[in-house]
Amino acid sequence: MQEFNLIIDGEKVSTNDYFDVINPADKSVVARCPKASVEQLNTAVAAAKAAFPAWSALTYAERRDKLMQLADAVEAKSEAFITLLTKEQGKPINGFADLGAGFEFGGTLAWIRSTASMELTPETIQDNDAAHIAIHRKALGVVGSITPWNYPLLIGIWHMIPALITGNTVVIKPSEMTPLTTLFLGEIAKDILPKGVLNVVAGAGEIGGAMSSHKDIDKIIFTGSTPTGKAIMKSAAENLKRLTLELGGNDAGIVLADADIEAIAGKIFATSFINNGQTCAALKRLYVHEAVYEQLCEAMTNIANSMKTGNGLDADTDFGPLQNEKQLEIVKALAQDAKERGANFLCGGEVVDETGYFYPITLVNNIQDGARLVDEEQFGPILPIIKFSDVEEAITSANRLSVGLGGSVWSTDIEKAQSIGSRLECGTVWINNHAMVQPDAPFGGVKDSGFGVAFGEAGLKEFTSIQTMQTSKS
Ligand code: NDP
Repeated sequence: MQEFNLIIDGEKVSTNDYFDVINPADKSVVARCPKASVEQLNTAVAAAKAAFPAWSALTYAERRDKLMQLADAVEAKSEAFITLLTKEQGKPINGFADLGAGFEFGGTLAWIRSTASMELTPETIQDNDAAHIAIHRKALGVVGSITPWNYPLLIGIWHMIPALITGNTVVIKPSEMTPLTTLFLGEIAKDILPKGVLNVVAGAGEIGGAMSSHKDIDKIIFTGSTPTGKAIMKSAAENLKRLTLELGGNDAGIVLADADIEAIAGKIFATSFINNGQTCAALKRLYVHEAVYEQLCEAMTNIANSMKTGNGLDADTDFGPLQNEKQLEIVKALAQDAKERGANFLCGGEVVDETGYFYPITLVNNIQDGARLVDEEQFGPILPIIKFSDVEEAITSANRLSVGLGGSVWSTDIEKAQSIGSRLECGTVWINNHAMVQPDAPFGGVKDSGFGVAFGEAGLKEFTSIQTMQTSKS
Protein backbone atom coordinates (compact mmCIF):
# COMPACT_ATOMS: atom_id res chain seq x y z
CA MET A 1 0.00 0.00 0.00
CA GLN A 2 1.38 3.44 -0.99
CA GLU A 3 2.45 5.58 1.98
CA PHE A 4 1.37 9.20 2.27
CA ASN A 5 2.68 12.06 4.40
CA LEU A 6 1.83 15.68 5.02
CA ILE A 7 4.09 18.12 3.19
CA ILE A 8 5.23 20.94 5.46
CA ASP A 9 8.14 23.30 4.84
CA GLY A 10 9.52 21.11 2.06
CA GLU A 11 9.54 17.95 4.17
CA LYS A 12 7.43 14.81 4.40
CA VAL A 13 5.82 14.84 7.83
CA SER A 14 4.11 11.91 9.54
CA THR A 15 1.29 12.22 12.07
CA ASN A 16 0.10 10.51 15.24
CA ASP A 17 -3.34 9.89 13.79
CA TYR A 18 -4.41 8.36 10.50
CA PHE A 19 -7.74 7.68 8.82
CA ASP A 20 -8.70 5.29 6.05
CA VAL A 21 -9.48 6.50 2.54
CA ILE A 22 -12.22 4.31 1.07
CA ASN A 23 -12.54 3.20 -2.56
CA PRO A 24 -16.20 3.98 -3.30
CA ALA A 25 -16.39 1.20 -5.92
CA ASP A 26 -15.88 -1.66 -3.43
CA LYS A 27 -15.55 0.00 0.02
CA SER A 28 -11.99 -1.31 0.38
CA VAL A 29 -9.23 0.79 1.97
CA VAL A 30 -7.12 2.56 -0.67
CA ALA A 31 -4.56 3.87 1.82
CA ARG A 32 -4.12 5.39 5.25
CA CYS A 33 -4.18 9.16 5.23
CA PRO A 34 -2.15 11.19 7.73
CA LYS A 35 -4.46 13.28 9.93
CA ALA A 36 -2.86 16.62 10.75
CA SER A 37 -3.20 18.28 14.14
CA VAL A 38 -3.93 21.98 14.47
CA GLU A 39 -0.30 22.40 15.66
CA GLN A 40 0.88 20.89 12.36
CA LEU A 41 -1.40 23.27 10.48
CA ASN A 42 0.16 26.16 12.41
CA THR A 43 3.64 24.95 11.45
CA ALA A 44 2.56 24.79 7.79
CA VAL A 45 1.14 28.33 7.90
CA ALA A 46 4.33 29.61 9.57
CA ALA A 47 6.42 27.93 6.84
CA ALA A 48 4.26 29.49 4.12
CA LYS A 49 4.57 32.89 5.79
CA ALA A 50 8.35 32.58 6.02
CA ALA A 51 8.61 31.53 2.37
CA PHE A 52 6.46 34.41 1.11
CA PRO A 53 9.02 37.30 0.91
CA ALA A 54 11.48 35.38 -1.28
CA TRP A 55 8.86 33.70 -3.48
CA SER A 56 6.91 36.92 -4.09
CA ALA A 57 10.15 38.75 -4.92
CA LEU A 58 10.88 36.40 -7.85
CA THR A 59 9.86 37.49 -11.33
CA TYR A 60 6.92 35.87 -13.09
CA ALA A 61 9.44 34.16 -15.41
CA GLU A 62 11.28 32.61 -12.44
CA ARG A 63 8.08 31.34 -10.83
CA ARG A 64 6.81 30.13 -14.21
CA ASP A 65 9.95 28.10 -14.70
CA LYS A 66 9.33 26.23 -11.43
CA LEU A 67 5.66 25.60 -12.19
CA MET A 68 6.47 24.30 -15.68
CA GLN A 69 8.95 21.90 -14.07
CA LEU A 70 6.14 20.81 -11.76
CA ALA A 71 3.87 20.11 -14.75
CA ASP A 72 6.59 17.98 -16.37
CA ALA A 73 7.23 16.03 -13.15
CA VAL A 74 3.51 15.38 -12.65
CA GLU A 75 3.16 14.30 -16.28
CA ALA A 76 5.97 11.78 -15.78
CA LYS A 77 3.75 10.05 -13.20
CA SER A 78 0.59 10.02 -15.35
CA GLU A 79 -0.36 6.43 -14.83
CA ALA A 80 0.10 6.49 -11.07
CA PHE A 81 -1.98 9.67 -10.75
CA ILE A 82 -4.82 8.41 -12.95
CA THR A 83 -5.10 5.06 -11.15
CA LEU A 84 -4.96 6.69 -7.72
CA LEU A 85 -7.63 9.19 -8.76
CA THR A 86 -9.94 6.38 -9.87
CA LYS A 87 -9.36 4.51 -6.63
CA GLU A 88 -10.00 7.42 -4.27
CA GLN A 89 -12.70 9.26 -6.25
CA GLY A 90 -14.43 6.46 -8.13
CA LYS A 91 -14.50 8.00 -11.61
CA PRO A 92 -13.57 5.60 -14.43
CA ILE A 93 -10.10 5.66 -15.92
CA ASN A 94 -11.63 6.55 -19.32
CA GLY A 95 -15.40 6.57 -18.90
CA PHE A 96 -18.27 7.88 -21.02
CA ALA A 97 -16.98 10.25 -23.74
CA ASP A 98 -13.51 9.96 -22.20
CA LEU A 99 -14.57 12.25 -19.34
CA GLY A 100 -13.04 10.12 -16.57
CA ALA A 101 -9.81 10.23 -14.56
CA GLY A 102 -7.69 10.62 -17.71
CA PHE A 103 -9.72 13.71 -18.57
CA GLU A 104 -9.21 15.21 -15.11
CA PHE A 105 -5.50 14.47 -15.28
CA GLY A 106 -5.20 15.98 -18.78
CA GLY A 107 -7.01 19.08 -17.52
CA THR A 108 -4.62 19.26 -14.58
CA LEU A 109 -1.58 19.46 -16.86
CA ALA A 110 -3.28 21.89 -19.25
CA TRP A 111 -4.32 24.19 -16.41
CA ILE A 112 -0.89 24.22 -14.75
CA ARG A 113 0.83 25.15 -17.99
CA SER A 114 -1.74 27.59 -19.21
CA THR A 115 -2.18 29.42 -15.88
CA ALA A 116 1.55 29.54 -15.26
CA SER A 117 1.96 31.24 -18.65
CA MET A 118 -0.20 34.17 -17.61
CA GLU A 119 1.07 37.38 -16.05
CA LEU A 120 -0.34 40.53 -14.49
CA THR A 121 1.52 43.64 -15.61
CA PRO A 122 1.23 47.19 -14.22
CA GLU A 123 -1.49 49.24 -15.87
CA THR A 124 -0.72 52.90 -16.60
CA ILE A 125 -3.80 55.08 -16.20
CA GLN A 126 -2.10 58.48 -16.50
CA ASP A 127 1.23 59.60 -17.93
CA ASN A 128 1.44 63.37 -18.50
CA ASP A 129 3.36 66.42 -17.28
CA ALA A 130 1.63 66.26 -13.89
CA ALA A 131 2.13 62.62 -12.92
CA HIS A 132 2.60 59.04 -13.84
CA ILE A 133 -0.07 56.87 -12.23
CA ALA A 134 0.02 53.08 -12.47
CA ILE A 135 -1.91 50.23 -10.91
CA HIS A 136 0.32 47.45 -9.60
CA ARG A 137 -0.86 44.03 -8.46
CA LYS A 138 0.74 42.62 -5.32
CA ALA A 139 0.51 39.10 -3.94
CA LEU A 140 -1.61 38.78 -0.78
CA GLY A 141 0.59 36.48 1.31
CA VAL A 142 -0.50 33.04 2.54
CA VAL A 143 -3.42 31.49 0.66
CA GLY A 144 -5.44 28.72 2.33
CA SER A 145 -7.10 26.37 -0.13
CA ILE A 146 -9.89 23.96 0.84
CA THR A 147 -10.82 21.58 -1.96
CA PRO A 148 -13.71 19.12 -2.53
CA TRP A 149 -13.96 15.45 -3.46
CA ASN A 150 -15.47 15.64 -6.95
CA TYR A 151 -12.34 16.77 -8.90
CA PRO A 152 -9.69 16.62 -6.15
CA LEU A 153 -6.65 17.02 -8.37
CA LEU A 154 -8.01 19.50 -10.91
CA ILE A 155 -9.70 21.81 -8.40
CA GLY A 156 -6.52 21.72 -6.30
CA ILE A 157 -4.65 23.01 -9.35
CA TRP A 158 -7.35 25.64 -9.99
CA HIS A 159 -6.68 26.91 -6.47
CA MET A 160 -2.90 26.56 -6.25
CA ILE A 161 -1.47 27.65 -9.58
CA PRO A 162 -2.99 31.16 -9.85
CA ALA A 163 -2.03 31.73 -6.21
CA LEU A 164 1.56 30.62 -6.80
CA ILE A 165 2.20 32.32 -10.14
CA THR A 166 1.12 35.69 -8.69
CA GLY A 167 3.62 35.25 -5.83
CA ASN A 168 1.56 33.87 -2.93
CA THR A 169 2.46 30.83 -0.88
CA VAL A 170 -0.10 28.10 -0.21
CA VAL A 171 -1.42 25.77 2.45
CA ILE A 172 -3.86 23.33 0.85
CA LYS A 173 -6.30 21.10 2.73
CA PRO A 174 -7.85 18.46 0.45
CA SER A 175 -11.20 16.83 1.25
CA GLU A 176 -10.82 13.99 3.74
CA MET A 177 -12.70 11.81 1.20
CA THR A 178 -10.06 12.26 -1.53
CA PRO A 179 -6.78 13.55 -0.08
CA LEU A 180 -4.35 11.15 -1.75
CA THR A 181 -3.75 12.66 -5.18
CA THR A 182 -3.11 16.06 -3.55
CA LEU A 183 -0.62 14.55 -1.08
CA PHE A 184 1.08 12.79 -4.01
CA LEU A 185 1.29 16.09 -5.89
CA GLY A 186 2.75 17.79 -2.82
CA GLU A 187 5.41 15.12 -2.57
CA ILE A 188 6.48 15.82 -6.15
CA ALA A 189 6.31 19.60 -5.67
CA LYS A 190 8.54 19.60 -2.58
CA ASP A 191 11.55 18.68 -4.74
CA ILE A 192 10.87 21.51 -7.19
CA LEU A 193 9.46 24.50 -5.30
CA PRO A 194 11.39 26.32 -2.55
CA LYS A 195 10.55 25.00 0.89
CA GLY A 196 7.39 26.35 2.47
CA VAL A 197 5.92 27.62 -0.81
CA LEU A 198 3.41 24.76 -1.07
CA ASN A 199 2.25 22.86 2.03
CA VAL A 200 -0.31 20.04 2.03
CA VAL A 201 -2.17 19.41 5.28
CA ALA A 202 -4.76 16.63 5.20
CA GLY A 203 -7.16 16.31 8.08
CA ALA A 204 -10.78 16.02 9.05
CA GLY A 205 -13.12 17.77 11.42
CA GLU A 206 -11.00 20.68 12.66
CA ILE A 207 -8.46 21.76 10.04
CA GLY A 208 -10.86 23.66 7.76
CA GLY A 209 -12.26 25.73 10.61
CA ALA A 210 -8.79 26.41 11.99
CA MET A 211 -7.75 27.68 8.55
CA SER A 212 -10.66 30.04 8.03
CA SER A 213 -10.04 31.67 11.42
CA HIS A 214 -6.21 31.62 11.17
CA LYS A 215 -4.70 35.08 11.67
CA ASP A 216 -1.74 34.37 9.36
CA ILE A 217 -3.79 33.17 6.39
CA ASP A 218 -4.56 36.14 4.16
CA LYS A 219 -7.03 34.55 1.79
CA ILE A 220 -9.20 31.45 1.65
CA ILE A 221 -10.30 29.87 -1.60
CA PHE A 222 -12.99 27.26 -1.02
CA THR A 223 -14.97 25.01 -3.35
CA GLY A 224 -17.84 23.12 -1.70
CA SER A 225 -21.28 23.57 -0.19
CA THR A 226 -23.08 26.86 0.43
CA PRO A 227 -23.54 26.32 4.21
CA THR A 228 -19.81 25.69 4.67
CA GLY A 229 -19.04 28.70 2.46
CA LYS A 230 -21.18 30.86 4.76
CA ALA A 231 -19.42 29.46 7.85
CA ILE A 232 -16.05 30.31 6.28
CA MET A 233 -17.19 33.84 5.55
CA LYS A 234 -18.17 34.34 9.18
CA SER A 235 -14.87 33.19 10.64
CA ALA A 236 -12.84 34.95 7.94
CA ALA A 237 -14.11 38.27 9.28
CA GLU A 238 -11.60 38.04 12.15
CA ASN A 239 -8.67 39.33 10.05
CA LEU A 240 -10.69 40.49 7.01
CA LYS A 241 -9.47 37.60 4.86
CA ARG A 242 -9.98 37.85 1.14
CA LEU A 243 -12.29 35.11 -0.11
CA THR A 244 -13.14 33.23 -3.25
CA LEU A 245 -16.15 30.97 -2.68
CA GLU A 246 -17.18 28.55 -5.40
CA LEU A 247 -20.29 26.98 -3.90
CA GLY A 248 -23.16 24.77 -4.92
CA GLY A 249 -25.28 25.25 -8.00
CA ASN A 250 -28.49 23.91 -9.47
CA ASP A 251 -28.04 24.88 -13.10
CA ALA A 252 -31.06 25.04 -15.35
CA GLY A 253 -30.95 24.22 -19.04
CA ILE A 254 -33.77 25.57 -21.23
CA VAL A 255 -34.54 23.78 -24.51
CA LEU A 256 -36.60 25.91 -26.91
CA ALA A 257 -39.21 24.61 -29.36
CA ASP A 258 -36.90 25.13 -32.35
CA ALA A 259 -33.96 23.14 -30.90
CA ASP A 260 -32.43 20.43 -33.08
CA ILE A 261 -32.97 17.50 -30.71
CA GLU A 262 -30.93 14.99 -32.66
CA ALA A 263 -27.95 17.34 -32.62
CA ILE A 264 -28.13 18.27 -28.93
CA ALA A 265 -29.39 15.19 -27.04
CA GLY A 266 -25.89 13.72 -26.67
CA LYS A 267 -24.43 17.01 -25.43
CA ILE A 268 -27.25 17.50 -22.92
CA PHE A 269 -26.71 13.97 -21.65
CA ALA A 270 -22.93 14.42 -21.33
CA THR A 271 -23.12 17.78 -19.57
CA SER A 272 -25.79 16.55 -17.13
CA PHE A 273 -23.98 13.36 -16.18
CA ILE A 274 -20.35 14.48 -16.40
CA ASN A 275 -18.52 12.94 -13.42
CA ASN A 276 -21.74 11.10 -12.55
CA GLY A 277 -23.46 14.47 -12.00
CA GLN A 278 -20.94 15.36 -9.27
CA THR A 279 -19.91 18.56 -11.01
CA CYS A 280 -20.69 22.01 -9.63
CA ALA A 281 -21.75 23.38 -13.01
CA ALA A 282 -23.41 20.26 -14.45
CA LEU A 283 -26.85 20.73 -15.97
CA LYS A 284 -29.12 19.77 -13.05
CA ARG A 285 -32.65 20.85 -14.08
CA LEU A 286 -33.74 20.42 -17.69
CA TYR A 287 -36.70 22.58 -18.87
CA VAL A 288 -37.99 21.47 -22.28
CA HIS A 289 -40.63 23.06 -24.51
CA GLU A 290 -43.66 20.82 -24.97
CA ALA A 291 -43.13 20.71 -28.77
CA VAL A 292 -39.88 18.73 -28.38
CA TYR A 293 -40.37 17.22 -24.92
CA GLU A 294 -41.26 13.65 -25.91
CA GLN A 295 -38.57 13.54 -28.58
CA LEU A 296 -35.83 14.68 -26.20
CA CYS A 297 -36.96 12.35 -23.39
CA GLU A 298 -36.82 9.43 -25.81
CA ALA A 299 -33.40 10.37 -27.20
CA MET A 300 -31.94 10.80 -23.70
CA THR A 301 -33.45 7.50 -22.52
CA ASN A 302 -31.89 5.66 -25.45
CA ILE A 303 -28.47 7.02 -24.53
CA ALA A 304 -28.96 6.27 -20.81
CA ASN A 305 -29.97 2.68 -21.51
CA SER A 306 -26.68 2.04 -23.30
CA MET A 307 -24.55 3.14 -20.31
CA LYS A 308 -22.69 0.82 -17.95
CA THR A 309 -22.20 1.80 -14.30
CA GLY A 310 -19.45 -0.12 -12.50
CA ASN A 311 -15.95 -0.15 -11.06
CA GLY A 312 -13.91 2.60 -12.70
CA LEU A 313 -10.90 0.31 -13.04
CA ASP A 314 -12.83 -1.83 -15.56
CA ALA A 315 -12.10 -0.64 -19.09
CA ASP A 316 -15.73 -0.76 -20.28
CA THR A 317 -17.21 1.26 -17.39
CA ASP A 318 -19.00 4.46 -18.43
CA PHE A 319 -19.86 5.76 -14.95
CA GLY A 320 -18.42 4.86 -11.55
CA PRO A 321 -20.00 5.00 -8.09
CA LEU A 322 -20.98 8.12 -6.17
CA GLN A 323 -17.91 9.28 -4.29
CA ASN A 324 -19.32 8.68 -0.82
CA GLU A 325 -22.21 7.17 1.07
CA LYS A 326 -23.59 10.52 2.25
CA GLN A 327 -23.98 11.67 -1.36
CA LEU A 328 -25.63 8.38 -2.33
CA GLU A 329 -28.15 8.87 0.49
CA ILE A 330 -28.94 12.40 -0.78
CA VAL A 331 -29.62 11.05 -4.28
CA LYS A 332 -31.81 8.24 -2.93
CA ALA A 333 -33.83 10.66 -0.80
CA LEU A 334 -34.47 13.02 -3.73
CA ALA A 335 -35.56 10.06 -5.90
CA GLN A 336 -37.90 8.83 -3.16
CA ASP A 337 -39.54 12.26 -2.87
CA ALA A 338 -40.03 12.32 -6.68
CA LYS A 339 -41.65 8.86 -6.58
CA GLU A 340 -44.02 9.92 -3.82
CA ARG A 341 -45.08 12.91 -5.94
CA GLY A 342 -45.96 10.62 -8.85
CA ALA A 343 -43.03 11.49 -11.12
CA ASN A 344 -42.22 9.10 -13.96
CA PHE A 345 -38.85 7.31 -14.02
CA LEU A 346 -37.76 6.84 -17.64
CA CYS A 347 -34.80 4.72 -16.51
CA GLY A 348 -32.86 3.89 -13.35
CA GLY A 349 -34.19 4.91 -9.95
CA GLU A 350 -33.25 1.78 -7.98
CA VAL A 351 -29.95 0.73 -6.44
CA VAL A 352 -29.06 -2.64 -7.99
CA ASP A 353 -25.45 -3.11 -6.89
CA GLU A 354 -24.39 -2.53 -3.28
CA THR A 355 -20.75 -3.55 -3.70
CA GLY A 356 -19.96 0.15 -3.79
CA TYR A 357 -21.89 3.46 -3.69
CA PHE A 358 -23.51 2.82 -7.07
CA TYR A 359 -26.60 4.55 -8.41
CA PRO A 360 -27.70 4.04 -12.02
CA ILE A 361 -28.09 6.83 -14.56
CA THR A 362 -31.65 8.02 -13.92
CA LEU A 363 -34.01 10.26 -15.92
CA VAL A 364 -37.21 11.55 -14.35
CA ASN A 365 -40.09 13.30 -16.13
CA ASN A 366 -43.63 14.27 -15.19
CA ILE A 367 -42.10 16.35 -12.41
CA GLN A 368 -42.52 20.04 -11.49
CA ASP A 369 -40.85 22.85 -9.58
CA GLY A 370 -41.27 22.27 -5.85
CA ALA A 371 -40.16 18.62 -5.94
CA ARG A 372 -36.94 18.18 -3.97
CA LEU A 373 -35.22 16.72 -7.04
CA VAL A 374 -35.81 20.01 -8.87
CA ASP A 375 -35.26 22.46 -6.03
CA GLU A 376 -32.23 20.88 -4.32
CA GLU A 377 -28.82 20.12 -5.78
CA GLN A 378 -28.71 16.35 -6.48
CA PHE A 379 -24.95 16.22 -7.22
CA GLY A 380 -25.43 12.75 -8.64
CA PRO A 381 -26.64 10.78 -11.68
CA ILE A 382 -30.33 11.71 -11.66
CA LEU A 383 -31.87 14.41 -13.86
CA PRO A 384 -35.38 15.93 -13.66
CA ILE A 385 -36.90 16.86 -17.05
CA ILE A 386 -39.66 19.48 -16.74
CA LYS A 387 -42.12 20.42 -19.49
CA PHE A 388 -43.00 24.07 -20.28
CA SER A 389 -45.24 25.76 -22.81
CA ASP A 390 -44.24 29.42 -22.42
CA VAL A 391 -40.55 30.40 -22.31
CA GLU A 392 -41.30 33.13 -19.74
CA GLU A 393 -42.33 30.34 -17.32
CA ALA A 394 -39.02 28.56 -17.94
CA ILE A 395 -36.98 31.72 -17.29
CA THR A 396 -38.90 32.33 -14.04
CA SER A 397 -38.26 28.71 -13.02
CA ALA A 398 -34.56 28.93 -13.84
CA ASN A 399 -34.19 32.08 -11.71
CA ARG A 400 -36.40 31.13 -8.78
CA LEU A 401 -33.75 29.36 -6.68
CA SER A 402 -31.21 31.05 -4.43
CA VAL A 403 -28.21 29.63 -6.35
CA GLY A 404 -26.73 30.96 -9.61
CA LEU A 405 -23.66 29.20 -10.94
CA GLY A 406 -24.42 28.37 -14.58
CA GLY A 407 -27.31 28.06 -17.02
CA SER A 408 -27.90 27.22 -20.66
CA VAL A 409 -30.26 27.83 -23.57
CA TRP A 410 -30.57 25.37 -26.45
CA SER A 411 -31.96 26.62 -29.77
CA THR A 412 -31.25 26.98 -33.47
CA ASP A 413 -32.02 30.72 -33.18
CA ILE A 414 -28.75 31.97 -31.63
CA GLU A 415 -29.85 35.59 -31.17
CA LYS A 416 -33.00 34.56 -29.36
CA ALA A 417 -31.04 32.08 -27.20
CA GLN A 418 -28.49 34.76 -26.28
CA SER A 419 -31.23 37.21 -25.38
CA ILE A 420 -32.86 34.63 -23.08
CA GLY A 421 -29.44 33.63 -21.71
CA SER A 422 -28.70 37.22 -20.72
CA ARG A 423 -31.79 37.13 -18.47
CA LEU A 424 -30.60 34.10 -16.49
CA GLU A 425 -29.25 34.88 -13.01
CA CYS A 426 -25.97 32.98 -13.14
CA GLY A 427 -22.22 33.51 -13.50
CA THR A 428 -21.86 31.67 -16.82
CA VAL A 429 -24.44 31.08 -19.51
CA TRP A 430 -23.83 28.62 -22.32
CA ILE A 431 -25.68 28.60 -25.63
CA ASN A 432 -26.09 25.08 -27.04
CA ASN A 433 -23.71 23.67 -24.47
CA HIS A 434 -23.22 23.48 -20.70
CA ALA A 435 -20.50 22.99 -18.06
CA MET A 436 -17.65 23.90 -20.42
CA VAL A 437 -14.75 25.66 -18.70
CA GLN A 438 -11.36 26.67 -20.02
CA PRO A 439 -8.26 28.29 -18.49
CA ASP A 440 -8.80 31.74 -20.02
CA ALA A 441 -12.57 32.23 -19.52
CA PRO A 442 -13.63 33.58 -16.09
CA PHE A 443 -15.90 31.24 -14.13
CA GLY A 444 -17.77 31.91 -10.89
CA GLY A 445 -21.17 32.17 -9.28
CA VAL A 446 -23.72 34.75 -8.21
CA LYS A 447 -26.26 34.68 -5.35
CA ASP A 448 -25.71 31.69 -3.01
CA SER A 449 -23.29 30.09 -5.49
CA GLY A 450 -20.57 32.35 -4.11
CA PHE A 451 -18.38 35.14 -5.38
CA GLY A 452 -15.01 35.69 -6.97
CA VAL A 453 -13.99 34.10 -10.25
CA ALA A 454 -11.49 31.48 -11.36
CA PHE A 455 -9.46 31.42 -14.59
CA GLY A 456 -7.98 33.98 -16.92
CA GLU A 457 -6.62 37.36 -15.93
CA ALA A 458 -9.68 37.97 -13.77
CA GLY A 459 -8.88 34.76 -11.89
CA LEU A 460 -5.26 35.80 -11.25
CA LYS A 461 -6.39 39.18 -9.92
CA GLU A 462 -8.32 37.37 -7.16
CA PHE A 463 -4.96 36.51 -5.57
CA THR A 464 -3.64 40.09 -5.53
CA SER A 465 -4.38 43.47 -4.06
CA ILE A 466 -4.07 46.76 -5.90
CA GLN A 467 -1.29 49.18 -5.14
CA THR A 468 -1.71 52.47 -6.95
CA MET A 469 1.61 54.22 -7.51
CA GLN A 470 1.45 57.95 -8.19
CA THR A 471 4.76 59.55 -9.25
CA SER A 472 4.55 63.30 -9.25
CA LYS A 473 6.32 65.08 -12.12
CA SER A 474 5.93 68.65 -10.96
P1 NDP B 1 -18.45 20.73 2.50
O1 NDP B 1 -18.87 21.66 1.46
O2 NDP B 1 -19.16 20.81 3.80
O3 NDP B 1 -16.89 20.96 2.75
C1 NDP B 1 -16.15 20.15 3.60
C2 NDP B 1 -14.79 20.79 3.73
O4 NDP B 1 -14.93 22.07 4.33
C3 NDP B 1 -13.84 19.98 4.57
O5 NDP B 1 -12.55 20.09 4.00
C4 NDP B 1 -13.89 20.69 5.92
O6 NDP B 1 -12.67 20.56 6.60
C5 NDP B 1 -14.11 22.13 5.49
N1 NDP B 1 -14.81 22.93 6.50
C6 NDP B 1 -15.88 22.61 7.23
N2 NDP B 1 -16.23 23.64 8.04
C7 NDP B 1 -15.36 24.64 7.80
C8 NDP B 1 -15.18 25.98 8.29
N3 NDP B 1 -15.98 26.50 9.21
N4 NDP B 1 -14.17 26.70 7.78
C9 NDP B 1 -13.36 26.19 6.84
N5 NDP B 1 -13.48 24.95 6.34
C10 NDP B 1 -14.46 24.19 6.81
O7 NDP B 1 -18.39 19.26 1.87
P2 NDP B 1 -19.30 17.99 1.81
O8 NDP B 1 -18.44 16.89 1.38
O9 NDP B 1 -20.08 17.81 3.06
O10 NDP B 1 -20.31 18.32 0.60
C11 NDP B 1 -21.58 18.80 0.86
C12 NDP B 1 -22.28 19.20 -0.44
O11 NDP B 1 -21.52 20.18 -1.13
C13 NDP B 1 -22.48 18.08 -1.45
O12 NDP B 1 -23.62 17.33 -1.17
C14 NDP B 1 -22.59 18.84 -2.74
O13 NDP B 1 -23.92 19.22 -2.97
C15 NDP B 1 -21.76 20.08 -2.52
N6 NDP B 1 -20.44 20.04 -3.16
C16 NDP B 1 -20.16 21.02 -4.06
C17 NDP B 1 -18.97 21.02 -4.72
C18 NDP B 1 -18.64 22.06 -5.73
O14 NDP B 1 -17.86 21.78 -6.62
N7 NDP B 1 -19.17 23.27 -5.61
C19 NDP B 1 -17.97 19.97 -4.50
C20 NDP B 1 -18.33 19.01 -3.50
C21 NDP B 1 -19.53 19.07 -2.86
P3 NDP B 1 -12.62 20.05 8.13
O15 NDP B 1 -13.35 18.76 8.16
O16 NDP B 1 -11.17 19.91 8.47
O17 NDP B 1 -13.26 21.15 8.90
